Amino acid sequence: VEGYLQRIEEKKHLNAFVEVYADEAKLRAAEIQKKIINGNAGKLAGMILGIKDLICYKDHNISAGSKILENYNSIFSSTVVERILAEDAIIIGRQNCDEFAMGGSNENSYFGPVKNDADNTKVPGGSSGGSAVAVQADLCMASLGTDTGGSVRQPAAFCGVVGLKPTYGRVSRHGIIAYASSFDQVGPITKSVEDAALLLEVIAGHDDHDSTCSTAPVPAYSQQLSFTGKKRIAYLPETLNSDGLDPEIKAITENTIKRLIEEGHEVEPISFPYLDYVVPTYYILTMAESSSNLARYDGVHYGYRSQNAVDLESTYKKSRSEGFGDEVKRRILLGTFVLSAGHYDAFYGKAQKVRRLIREKTDEILENHDFILLPTTPGPAFGIGEKTDDPVVMYLADIFTVQASLAGIPAISLPVAISKSNLPLGIQFIGKRFGEAELLAFSKYVL
Ligand code: GLN
Repeated sequence: VEGYLQRIEEKKHLNAFVEVYADEAKLRAAEIQKKIINGNAGKLAGMILGIKDLICYKDHNISAGSKILENYNSIFSSTVVERILAEDAIIIGRQNCDEFAMGGSNENSYFGPVKNDADNTKVPGGSSGGSAVAVQADLCMASLGTDTGGSVRQPAAFCGVVGLKPTYGRVSRHGIIAYASSFDQVGPITKSVEDAALLLEVIAGHDDHDSTCSTAPVPAYSQQLSFTGKKRIAYLPETLNSDGLDPEIKAITENTIKRLIEEGHEVEPISFPYLDYVVPTYYILTMAESSSNLARYDGVHYGYRSQNAVDLESTYKKSRSEGFGDEVKRRILLGTFVLSAGHYDAFYGKAQKVRRLIREKTDEILENHDFILLPTTPGPAFGIGEKTDDPVVMYLADIFTVQASLAGIPAISLPVAISKSNLPLGIQFIGKRFGEAELLAFSKYVL
């Protein structure tokens, strides 16, 4: 713990942590050391973890990267935190993220941007940017992030680490600050596939507090990592021919295809005709859900309350105007627009139907194939400030991660290469619904 605390201090410029629990982590390490000596320590004994500032931890502040939750203290722990603590993990701090997990560069945080440790002028990705950089820079052994449309996988790719988004419903959302409830999942960000498997095994499984959480039994993922045999893998030609795909990312994806064929796997192109629709569909639906989820921040129930308000209505208006950042406001406005009576059918209703098509087509591909291989991101980590002028340019960078989110199926980003300019590059595998065990075992083989 002391080693990690020292590195956190040395790497303060990265801005990965919003708060570090130094004394608490030291005390806990001493307790867990005793348990290890007594032979009754849990599965994560000694694992030093960071949690995204979106995951509730009782009696600790949580702010979702937002001013509106400034100084808000959590009155209960999320199920995932309870589960990692029950297995003797040590939580070293809470990690910087985009405000309410809205973003793909960690530039939307009230606590300022996070820097990539490979190149401090580049973003770490988002929204779980602090969580990914913390693993990249050895500020903790692993992190728990959340992934709504790529927020675990994309920063993992930008930071050269492993990021897994589980099947929707595999992990409880109880105590996770909601962004878009039909998409949000907690996922591990780790150095190795083994660590991802172990963490998923601990956090997954039924929870009475989340009715969307599956009752399907949780396999011992960490014990099922040996892989033999041959797989059928689909790749989507549309992804490799898409505008703006970085040539080095195209090359590593094609090299992976070649390698897998050479090793005897069946890898074939399967057309996915909806690639142009995934980003608009994702953003219409997530903005709609977020506008509804964020209605609770009214200056009365939680966190920040404007000092300039004179009555109830101005309390709402001023607290929200002063408390939310620009990106969050943009999404609330667009979300309420697509849900409004006159526009509901044209936008929200239509997007739901397209989501269904995307999900059915993806499921159909996975009926005949074990995995889908595609890039995680169109390019490597971009410069801080490079995409902040045009939100649509930022949204389009999610083109390869949102398919699995819309379909609600598991996907993993694996760090397979370093670019000529020394930036990490990732590839992504999508697996079958609740097929995390197969996905993890194959990922270990690929890495
Ligand atoms: N970049 C995407 C967005 O802004 C994904 C965010 C996430 O997964 N939380 O919505």
